[in-house]
Amino acid sequence: MAAIKSVGILTSGGDAPGMNAAIRAVTRSAIFNGLKVKGIYRGYKGLIANEIVTFKTQNVSNIIQQGGTILKTARSMEFKTKEGRKTAYDNMSAAGIDALVVIGGDGSLTGARIFAEEYNVPIIGIPGTIDNDLYGTDRTIGYDTALNTIMDAVDKIRDTATSHERLFFIEVMGRDAGFLALNGAIAVGAEDAIIPEMATEVDQLAELIENGFRKSKNSSIVLVAESETTGGAMGLAERVKNEYPQYDVRVTILGHIQRGGSPTSTDRILASRLGYAAIEALLEDQRNVMVGVENDKVVYVPFARAIKNEKPIDRDLLNVLRILSI
Ligand code: ADP
Repeated sequence: MAAIKSVGILTSGGDAPGMNAAIRAVTRSAIFNGLKVKGIYRGYKGLIANEIVTFKTQNVSNIIQQGGTILKTARSMEFKTKEGRKTAYDNMSAAGIDALVVIGGDGSLTGARIFAEEYNVPIIGIPGTIDNDLYGTDRTIGYDTALNTIMDAVDKIRDTATSHERLFFIEVMGRDAGFLALNGAIAVGAEDAIIPEMATEVDQLAELIENGFRKSKNSSIVLVAESETTGGAMGLAERVKNEYPQYDVRVTILGHIQRGGSPTSTDRILASRLGYAAIEALLEDQRNVMVGVENDKVVYVPFARAIKNEKPIDRDLLNVLRILSI
């Protein structure tokens, strides 16, 4: 295999705080090892549109503390087509890029896997998503910051909630994964969390009401993961109005504040370690793996294992939440 001389880096899909710290780590580790770095703007969309710029160490100065991604991110329907990926490959070859580092979530790494197989390009994935829904890593970049944002917001809502006797549904992100809802609920001392992992098993709303959620409380806070199945916080509130009209229910949807803000130290350190590990992986001739952490050690996870593998919720966490909220 020819030695890698130039690495392209892109961020793709949903943005997450800490992506910049990862871009910085990849760029500087690559330059330290004598590699050239090309920043690709707007994810796969920018690769197809040829938005490729040479990166020096200064390009990533003063970004470790910034949320979002300086490379911008995008979704690209074109990259899902063979023609789109051909243009992407032609552009990257013309720019002299011979390996890619892709920072993103499940969708972005799925795209990376297909592209790598089609064109025999070495690609390393870095898990960047607030949802924490990639298998083979204990945490994804952005998850800890989002969790802390949720905690701060819900603490504020609780101040007003305790002044009234109400049921508060607070919707958080995580369409397919309840990590933010469940761990957020534990962190704020909420009564319950309604999460997608349990959606097909039980009627979580009926269970919540039947358990007598307000027996010893003035007001109750329930974190709800956004969901098409339950309709999220709005859908559940509608059900309460129809099925349990004796309760006064209020809804807050936290929305995009969960993606923003300066990354926590945990996310900055994780992003720095994974960015460094991505370049180490390329230098060791690894390809088509995601770098992750398990038990605080860096691990390399084949794309096939990292994506579309359900990362299970720890059921003990549900017990912690429910027992501690009596
Ligand atoms: P995330 O990476 O945050 O999960 P998306 O699911 O939106 O975000 O995926 C980001 C991008 O990855 C998509 O817009 C698309 O360009 C690419 N992608 C996702 N799935 C595929 C696929 N099956 N084939 C090729 N590219 C894909």
